[in-house]
Formats: sequence, C-alpha cells, structure tokens
Amino acid sequence: NATPRDRLRIAIQKSGRLADPARALLASCGLSWRESRDRLFCYGETLPVDLLLVRDDDIPGLIADGVCDLGVVGRNVMTEQDGERRAAGKPTAYRELRALGFGDCRLALAVPEGWEWKSPRQLDGMRIATSYPALLSQWLADEGVSAEVVLLSGSVEIAPRLGQADAICDLVSSGATLAANQLKPVATLFESEAVLAGPVHEFDAARGELASMLLRRLDGALRIRHSKLLMFQAERASLPALLPLLPDAEAPTVMQIDGADHLALQALCHGAVTWQRLEELKRAGASGLMVLPVEGMLA
Ligand code: ATP
Ligand code: MG
Repeated sequence: NATPRDRLRIAIQKSGRLADPARALLASCGLSWRESRDRLFCYGETLPVDLLLVRDDDIPGLIADGVCDLGVVGRNVMTEQDGERRAAGKPTAYRELRALGFGDCRLALAVPEGWEWKSPRQLDGMRIATSYPALLSQWLADEGVSAEVVLLSGSVEIAPRLGQADAICDLVSSGATLAANQLKPVATLFESEAVLAGPVHEFDAARGELASMLLRRLDGALRIRHSKLLMFQAERASLPALLPLLPDAEAPTVMQIDGADHLALQALCHGAVTWQRLEELKRAGASGLMVLPVEGMLA
C-alpha cells in the first residue's frame, strides 16, 4: 500500500465528459491548484488536496491500490470494474461516497431497428458486443439468458454492421449514436452518473479529517446547485394559499413587519423558480418577490 501521506489525492478524468464538471465541482468546494507542466498533476494551493489527471478507466484501480484516496468516475466504470474484480476472486476495494448529479447516462441493450423486440429470451444463443462484460453478464444471468459476450473496447455500435455481433450493450444518453447505426434501445441494464468514489476502509486520522471536511463542503455544494433563495412579503391570511406553492422549499423563515399581520418571508427553494411560479405566488398574495442565487451553504 501507499506510504503515509498527509495530503489528500483525488483522481479525476484528464479530458473527456467528466473532466470539466469534476474540476468545477471541486473548485466550488474551495479548492484551487497549481498545474504541473506535464498536466498530469495539480498541486493543491488552498488546501492539501491534490489532483491526479488520468483516464477514467484507471480511477477505480488507483483507489484500490491506495495511490489515490478519492476519485470522480462514472458509476458504470466503478461497478463494472468491481464486478470484474469479484469475478477474478478479488475483494471489493472501493465504494460510492456521493452521487454527483452530472455525467448522466444509462447502459442499454440495443438491437437492430428491424427486430421485433418481445423479451430478453430472444437473445438466447446470440452474440452481444460490449465494453461492460461484468454488467452485461450479470444482467444476462438475472434474466436467465445464455448469450455470448463479445468484448470490444470501443466503437461497439458498429459491431452488428460488421457482423461481429447480433446486438450491443453500450452507454446511451440521447440515443442519437444508436439511431445513426440503425439500432434501437430495448432495455436499460444500469443507470449511471458521476460519483465520488473512495476506498472501503476508513482513512487514517490526518487524511480522514481532510476527507470529511471535503465531503461536508461537497454536500453543501450539491444541495445548493439548483437552489435559490426566494424572498417576498405577504399578509398572514395568505399563508395557506402560498405555502403549497413552495413544496420544494425548506421551512420558510417568517418575520413580522408592521404589526402581526404583515409578514416578510424567505424560503430556500431546491427546485426551479420559474416566472410562472412567481406569477402564481403573486396571485396567491405575495408581493415584492425576489429570487437570489445561493453562493454557499454549510448545514
Ligand atoms: P478516457 O480517455 O478518460 O478513458 P472515455 O472515452 O472512456 O475517456 P468519456 O467518453 O469521456 O470517457 O466518458 C466518461 C464517462 O462519461 C462515461 O464512463 C460515463 O459515465 C459518462 N457518460 C455520460 N454520457 C455518456 C455518453 N453518452 N456516452 C458515454 N459516456 C457517457
Ligand atoms: Mg475511458
């Protein structure tokens, strides 16, 4: 295992879909870095938290080996590699600490557009191309289907046209790539998003404290990501009509102004505060409505 370190090291994707959002999220936790000349390492400046910039496929292994303490990686990659480790008789080495709310996609089974899809049993004896053999094999076993898994590391969607496979199992977000290859998704095997992954064991004291501080800040950052502070005034008698319009708000703060019946309210809303919603609130008796961005939050 790694030698004792008092700095925390987080692996993130060097370039690709998760690279920028992962850095932005960590920066919103108050981290900043100085980048090495080869762009592989970012030295933490505000806190002893460094980044290692790598291919996403390497992230679970870096955590398993103790080279990195944490990583931002797709749940699909983490779960697939965990399945591969277990198939090889190795113990689980990492776990999901937080779901991060970006990098959404699903692992889907797709078949040629001409197929009439009825049930997974149609796949019996077929060849299915994928880069996710562990997740696909698990699903096939759960469905009681015996099919041949054809392992491809990329360009899975052209396998049926090349005659390498009858169907495919690949990541989908919009479905445009499937359609361009005359394929249609027929089943979802796995829902994914980016996650913060960490080891199954606890950290030692020094890094443990850093990691819990980072997680606290991360929870604040994730909670306020879509949150707005809504401020308005209303008569006390309007409250029964107003409160149902704020189902996503935390218990609003209510202040009395000008005697007992005129109120000033502020509510932290976790859903979208649209114009339509403001207009509904106004009709229900709110006045002086104001929507403010939330910059930070520590529960
Ligand atoms: P690397 O060079 O780091 O190995 P990559 O090509 O494997 O990059 P990306 O294509 O950047 O990786 O995808 C990284 C992750 O983004 C995926 O593992 C998945 O979790 C997520 N993702 C979100 N939408 C999609 C999509 N439409 N297709 C593929 N991955 C997606
Ligand atoms: Mg990759």
